[in-house]
Amino acid sequence: MNRIYMDHAATTPVRPEVLEAMLPYFNTEFGNPSSVYSWGRSARKALDSARDLVAELLGASASEIVFTAGGSEGANMAVKGVAWADQGRGKHIITSAIEHHAVLDTVLWLEKQGFEVTVLPVDEFGSVSPAQVREALRPDTILVSIMHANNEVGTIQPISEIGAIVREHGAKFHTDAVQTAGVLELDVQALNVDLLSISAHKFYGPKGVGALYVRKGVRLHPLVHGGAQEKGRRAGTENTAGIVGMAKALELAQAERVDENARLTKMRDRLIQGLQKIPHTRVNGSLEQRLPNNVNVCFEFIEGESMLLNLDLRGIAASSGSACTSGSLDPSHVLLAMGLSHEIAHGSLRLTLGRDNTEADVDVVLQEVPGIVERLRAMSPLYQG
Ligand SMILES: *Cc1c(COP(=O)(O)O)cnc(C)c1O
Repeated sequence: MNRIYMDHAATTPVRPEVLEAMLPYFNTEFGNPSSVYSWGRSARKALDSARDLVAELLGASASEIVFTAGGSEGANMAVKGVAWADQGRGKHIITSAIEHHAVLDTVLWLEKQGFEVTVLPVDEFGSVSPAQVREALRPDTILVSIMHANNEVGTIQPISEIGAIVREHGAKFHTDAVQTAGVLELDVQALNVDLLSISAHKFYGPKGVGALYVRKGVRLHPLVHGGAQEKGRRAGTENTAGIVGMAKALELAQAERVDENARLTKMRDRLIQGLQKIPHTRVNGSLEQRLPNNVNVCFEFIEGESMLLNLDLRGIAASSGSACTSGSLDPSHVLLAMGLSHEIAHGSLRLTLGRDNTEADVDVVLQEVPGIVERLRAMSPLYQG
């Protein structure tokens, strides 16, 4: 059976060019970048080049890049780091209801530690309104964290506009750009952000490595203590191979993104149009401000989980809600925040396209899904036909 992977928002395969760039740093050039002899110097050189490259691709300078162990760590480091460093100035934090749990749970944990939190609602398309951010800002607001694009429904947020409002106020602004790195232009100046987190495995790099942009002058309390690495912002021997791989993956993705986005958008729209023909189906997220690879629909009278199992039997990998929430019976917090009922939110299907997908894959999915929907509905006591 031909396997079709359409869950690129969950993770992506490492590109061959990326793997090749990484390999020497596992053995021949295995030195600790902090060591003075040649092995160490070679690793240090690779690390420095990777930092220069990531900085350049984000419109930042090298000293503003902190390497992390991925998107979750980057979000934790940004949110806790600023909260702890700036709590003398105030204890109010603003975020949105559709953030990835890496941000949302971190902010809610800080609330238990005595911080005050405003969780902004979103509209039916999953958009955060800049006007609502402005209204929520208080004299004691120290941090605003709003994601660049949502991982479930693909809605792209007006980050640059929100950033300008937050900057005028003086609070720090973090954006979780894990879904947009390698997809959209990521220029930290144009985006008006103070902190921005990315994760390599979402753009064909290795898992467990990421980067956090920290604007010069932004104070950050470290999450991990114990060494002077990353200018004291994150202790621990650097993941040289992973970091080299991330820089290579980001470079390739940014170079190819315009052509690749055009290809993905075509497939995305064909999928959306095809799935919309199934009765009692709604498309989730914005149709205009949308990631080029994201398809998210709800089929009424169906459990998303059953849909996933049926697709898997046909070799198709998809998602319902997000990878972290499947396995739990709660419907997606993102779909609920957009105003969907529990019943409808339960029937969500997310297909996220990537480099390995072709128009033929789209044909197969459009061939398989209607029949699965029909069979599952036939078993539903609620469905009247
Ligand atoms: C995947 C993802 C994360 C978490 O990144 P990890 O590297 O898996 O920890 C955070 N935010 C968003 C939007 C994501 O899609």
